[in-house]
Amino acid sequence: MDLEQLFNQYKEQSLQGRYITLESIEPVLENSNTNNKLKIIGKSVLKKPIYQYEIGNGITRILLWSQMHGNESTTTKALFDFINLLNGDSELAKQFLNTFTFCCIPMLNPDGAKLYTRENANKIDLNRDSQNLSQPESLVLRAAFDSFKPDFCYNLHDQRTIFGVGSTGKPATLSFLAPSYNEAREINASRLKAINLIAGINDVLQEYIPGQVGRFDDSFNINCIGDTFQYMGVPTVLFEAGHFQSDYFREETRKYVFIALVSSFKILSENDVVGNKSDKYLSISQNKVVFYDFIYKNIKINYDGIEIITNFAAQYKEELVEGKLCFNAYIVKIGELENYFGHYEYDAKGDLYQDNHNNVPRLDQKADFYLKNNIEFVNGLMKT
Ligand SMILES: [Zn+2]
Repeated sequence: MDLEQLFNQYKEQSLQGRYITLESIEPVLENSNTNNKLKIIGKSVLKKPIYQYEIGNGITRILLWSQMHGNESTTTKALFDFINLLNGDSELAKQFLNTFTFCCIPMLNPDGAKLYTRENANKIDLNRDSQNLSQPESLVLRAAFDSFKPDFCYNLHDQRTIFGVGSTGKPATLSFLAPSYNEAREINASRLKAINLIAGINDVLQEYIPGQVGRFDDSFNINCIGDTFQYMGVPTVLFEAGHFQSDYFREETRKYVFIALVSSFKILSENDVVGNKSDKYLSISQNKVVFYDFIYKNIKINYDGIEIITNFAAQYKEELVEGKLCFNAYIVKIGELENYFGHYEYDAKGDLYQDNHNNVPRLDQKADFYLKNNIEFVNGLMKT
């Protein structure tokens, strides 16, 4: 099956880019709302609706939630692409709908989505609130879990561009975790199901993004939602959508999340999560912080009359300016950058650095500068 072709066929065209809010998804939800599949299951801190979309008649129950962190929208886009597939009339859709009942919460944190923050409107990280349940959004998810009684949970997130697959120099375009259910990180029957599922998804993804799948750290933290649900005996898979080369809007990564979702349900429908694939799972390289968005090597600076050669790195900050999301590059590290990679790298080969300030790169300064007088860099990138 050509999963890329399937993605192109069912991609939800109205959702694009990184800034996905309730206003973005409400029309799509309304369009897909045949047979009363759509429900409001609660309200956020700022009294915005939290939607649940239920589809399918199968016995295996799948609970998926996205944008628990407001600024993590890639999996939301992919979830809508997948819902489009389910609402199409393919044989695959029929097979999925006969096998599964899907309960989708596409935007658990609508306030954070609007503000483009990880946290909710009370500045609480909902993924550290699964024991306290201090926030309305946390209570909504727990109530959905209790009433739906899932056989599998899909915890859908985005990760920053800093993560690579081990030290290979490849970005972690998608990372996964079968969360631990105890401090000893033991593997019980339910965690093993999540592990086997990830091993199967990884086999498929390697055909599309070889070497760009990572495994998240499995330290146990019961305050995290995945750890809590795993602890409660439901196999849970964490998805982390990350960086693909030059894809800051995560439209490519979105495709790989879609492919991962479809593959996972093919695996589950073929009951291919039996046995023990923990060796295959553990052979997926761990995520490692090895990337900056920009690295400039071998720049010359004139420091108190002494010329030195150094390096520096810049990183995009995603800033909401008058309702529009901007990627603004700031200098975040100066000096030794051994063992780090840049998504964009430039070797200045000893050219002199100058800027409109003190002609020395400084932390938190915008990455706007010149090399050799005549090469201009604006917002991190060389002006051509
Ligand atoms: Zn997250």
